[in-house]
Amino acid sequence: MLRGSCLCGGVQFEIERAAGPFELCHCSRCRKVSGSAFVAGLGVRTEDFRLLSGAELIRDFSLPVAEHPPPYGVSFCSRCGSTVPNPAPDSEFFEVAAGLLDDDPGRRPDRHIFTHVKSHWYEITDDLPKLDKDALIALRMRRE
Ligand SMILES: [Zn+2]
Ligand SMILES: [Zn+2]
Repeated sequence: MLRGSCLCGGVQFEIERAAGPFELCHCSRCRKVSGSAFVAGLGVRTEDFRLLSGAELIRDFSLPVAEHPPPYGVSFCSRCGSTVPNPAPDSEFFEVAAGLLDDDPGRRPDRHIFTHVKSHWYEITDDLPKLDKDALIALRMRRE
């Protein structure tokens, strides 16, 4: 069981296992949300997720659809501002920001994504695959 929490500790959750993939997203939206070079997003099955406390603290923000659905959404703790997971009940799969985890998920990042729009000031120095948008779409199509 993997435990996770926000900065103030009000929102607590656990996930049974990290299904993956584990992706480092460099898109401009993820950079805004995190205030950093990328969001480390860990894929989790909704059925493996349990919110233990803090439901009343969670607020959602959805960005209007820029190109095509799904829209970009983020949930956060209204007390401390941390990004927090808040999967739609009918979703099969969603992402947890890995920085929230208090335990080692036992997985390491699989790839960088949206690297064609990454920040100018961050240099990727590892050997993980780097996928731009077209490569990512091709990968997702192959998997379905
Ligand atoms: Zn909080
Ligand atoms: Zn992103």
